Amino acid sequence: MKKILLAGAALALGLGLVACGSGVNKDGLTENGKLHMSTNAEFAPYEYHEQDQIVGIDAEIARAIADKLELELVINDIAFDSVIPEVTSGKADIGMAAMTVTEDRKKNVDFSNSYASSKQVIIVKEGSDIQNSEGLKGKIVGVQLGTTGDIYASDIENATLERYSKGFELIQALSQGKVDAVIVDEQPAKYYTKGKIDLKILDEAFVEEEYAIALKKGNTVLAEKINKALEELKEDGTIDSIISKYIVAE
Ligand code: GLN
Repeated sequence: MKKILLAGAALALGLGLVACGSGVNKDGLTENGKLHMSTNAEFAPYEYHEQDQIVGIDAEIARAIADKLELELVINDIAFDSVIPEVTSGKADIGMAAMTVTEDRKKNVDFSNSYASSKQVIIVKEGSDIQNSEGLKGKIVGVQLGTTGDIYASDIENATLERYSKGFELIQALSQGKVDAVIVDEQPAKYYTKGKIDLKILDEAFVEEEYAIALKKGNTVLAEKINKALEELKEDGTIDSIISKYIVAE
């Protein structure tokens, strides 16, 4: 009898979880009242440390979304290649890290609607013989581990890849001559090369990309709320004003 009751309880619990999207509450959250976001806060202007705070475009958009949903935003700063695993395991409700939507990532997570566009660019030392992506063949290329830059660089013929975990380490490696070129997102490239006259960003836009928020697969409850909040924040100009606060138009 006891066994049957237990089995019944387990089944009910199991169904309850399935009904709410596996391991999350009715609001699509892992913890009541909180929006847990995983990011890699080494990627200005999207997310970076300023004194004891994490600031940047993503951090501010996430805060605006959390405000709309009346949730407390909790930001967890981890390595970029751990962001998706934290979303799939349910440690985080959202992954927001200037993350590009890719078909491969869609196998593991769902994405919100896009909130920004971007591209990958190449940075070289002033005077380098590398003039475009063709010129990367056979060179030492620095990338950030697990990023789209890493994926694209893996296709370059005879190139040797040096993988770093933080954005600014790429620039350091380039300045020190440890790598011949770096592939990274456009705005972080501009941010990290600002004032560095020995470095230049090549004109060729390597690959166009869209950034979106990663969510646990099947968590449609939260995905819908986030998309609605994003829509409202786009319409009332909040997203534009956050972006223009961090990215000064040329
Ligand atoms: N946009 C790139 C990607 O999604 C880089 C993101 C990052 O380094 N934070 O892979």
